[in-house]
Amino acid sequence: MVNSEETKSEGAVMKQLQAQLKPIFKNLSHEVPLLLFTRPGKNDPFSQATRFIIRAVREVSSKITLREFDLSHDQAKKWKVHHAPTLLLDPEHYHVRWLGAPIGEETRTFVEALLMMGQGKTDLSEDARKVLMKIDSPRQIKVFVSPSCPYCPQQAVNALKSAIERPEAITLEIIDIQANPELADQYSAQSVPQTYANDILVAQGAQTEELFMLSLQRMEQQTVFIPDNDAEEVEADLVIIGGGPAGLTAGIYSARSGLRTVIIEKGALGGQVATTPIVENYPGLTQVGGKALVDLMTSHALEYVKIFPGEEVMDMVPGDPVTVLTTRRRFKTKAVLLSTGAVYRRLDAPGETRLSGHGVSYCSTCDGPLFRGKSVILVGGGNSAVTEALHLHNIGVKIILVHRRDSLRAQEHLTKNLLANNIPIFYNTEVKEIQGKNKVEEVVLLNNVTGETRTVPTDGVFIAVGYAPAVELAKKTGIELTPEGYIKRDAHHRTNIPGIYSAGDVEGGYKQIVTAAGQGAEAAMAIFEDLVNPYWISKQAAA
Ligand code: NAP
Repeated sequence: MVNSEETKSEGAVMKQLQAQLKPIFKNLSHEVPLLLFTRPGKNDPFSQATRFIIRAVREVSSKITLREFDLSHDQAKKWKVHHAPTLLLDPEHYHVRWLGAPIGEETRTFVEALLMMGQGKTDLSEDARKVLMKIDSPRQIKVFVSPSCPYCPQQAVNALKSAIERPEAITLEIIDIQANPELADQYSAQSVPQTYANDILVAQGAQTEELFMLSLQRMEQQTVFIPDNDAEEVEADLVIIGGGPAGLTAGIYSARSGLRTVIIEKGALGGQVATTPIVENYPGLTQVGGKALVDLMTSHALEYVKIFPGEEVMDMVPGDPVTVLTTRRRFKTKAVLLSTGAVYRRLDAPGETRLSGHGVSYCSTCDGPLFRGKSVILVGGGNSAVTEALHLHNIGVKIILVHRRDSLRAQEHLTKNLLANNIPIFYNTEVKEIQGKNKVEEVVLLNNVTGETRTVPTDGVFIAVGYAPAVELAKKTGIELTPEGYIKRDAHHRTNIPGIYSAGDVEGGYKQIVTAAGQGAEAAMAIFEDLVNPYWISKQAAA
């Protein structure tokens, strides 16, 4: 029985959702008929959640209609639907279906799908469209996603754009791995997002839309896209590269000081924080979900700054102005702030790369739910490893923490929490190999004190062994690095190249969210001073 408190809070959530959706959906010009297929007793919570979301959108737009059928209905045969719940979106015009529920992060994808279909167009970039138009044979796309994965909507929306632009050639299934673990198993898709075309793996992780279309055209994962030279040009005072806490904070500060500021982010806004299960002690918040904190920062930044998401910087040419070339356009700017953050470090153990996405994961928030009731090992001994171990334990994953030293280097309260939950820890232990045919089956562990090795069966290996600074663009541009590989900068966040600055984890230091935000604020103020008082720039150039 649903109690009145639950009904009340459901009503409040519905009202809040509708208030957000109403302005977005007011200009739909086309009808978007939805067909929902369910079966009582099969994935009921997912079916209920789907009905809830659809009710929210139907009540704000009469253009969205719904018909629901049981899986045994003739309509299910007609449309070849075999899983419950399955949602077909305007099936007379497009071949787009959702297996599972568009909840959590995936609500964003669902809203985008309705908007694009309801307006009869996408905002695909010209470069990406040119590649898409070159596809000359059918593609059946499957994108595996999870409601807890902040990267997934970017990839699912790429796939949607392709299926909406080329309905005669492209079919799309968005598959929620939590509702469809058997399909995830069949494809050994144990990390999200993962994209298949005609049953061939064409992408792991989220891509820019240009790289997505290129991977779809070439039927293998592409990592380099060369944009056309006739890209549009945007003028700015400050271009911030990287939309994590440092970049978002710098954006707020610099726009508030009057600089025309833009932020470019190739992946998910918020950087590492977006996938941190729980952030503790961000001032003012005892505990907050990483994604929730990112959403707060992003909406604050969006009040002042234009953000270019899903766009990758390909090149940067110093000068006055500095030129920044992305996959879509060219920016001419007085200054650039590099807040590119850090990328997760790999173990470099045999089997790690081959089984990445097939049981090897670097994101417990995204992939953890698929391992409920299963056993995994988690490698690392710092704050991230312990935070993620606790998260996995709390969602019902059986975990063993494996650390190469005899003690953890995590904060005391995190370690205490870990011990209080009786999570087993193998100290002085290194992962020598990850084994398995199509997915992780076992790991070879070495005790570095006794020299003993043993093989431990496991369903997954989560890796949380720290981060390395993302300095590729900096290196390519000739920016000086410290011996540890971080960007070298002065007290005002200036690099060795006039007009180019840095902030956040890419500079090293304490790597806390609050320190990254602080560095972003400092850098923005320093840039403002340099731009209004060129003395500083000439002084630096002369030095
Ligand atoms: P970290 O502090 O650098 O710790 C990395 C851990 O991985 C260390 O225990 C390290 O072992 C181990 N490691 C490194 N390379 C390895 C390898 N090749 N094989 C096996 N183990 C390896 O990284 P982090 O935990 O990701 O944290 C990054 C930063 O974020 C830190 O500054 C941390 O304080 C911050 N953070 C803060 C919070 C918070 O709640 N305040 C939460 C998460 C992260 P050794 O100990 O032997 O070096």
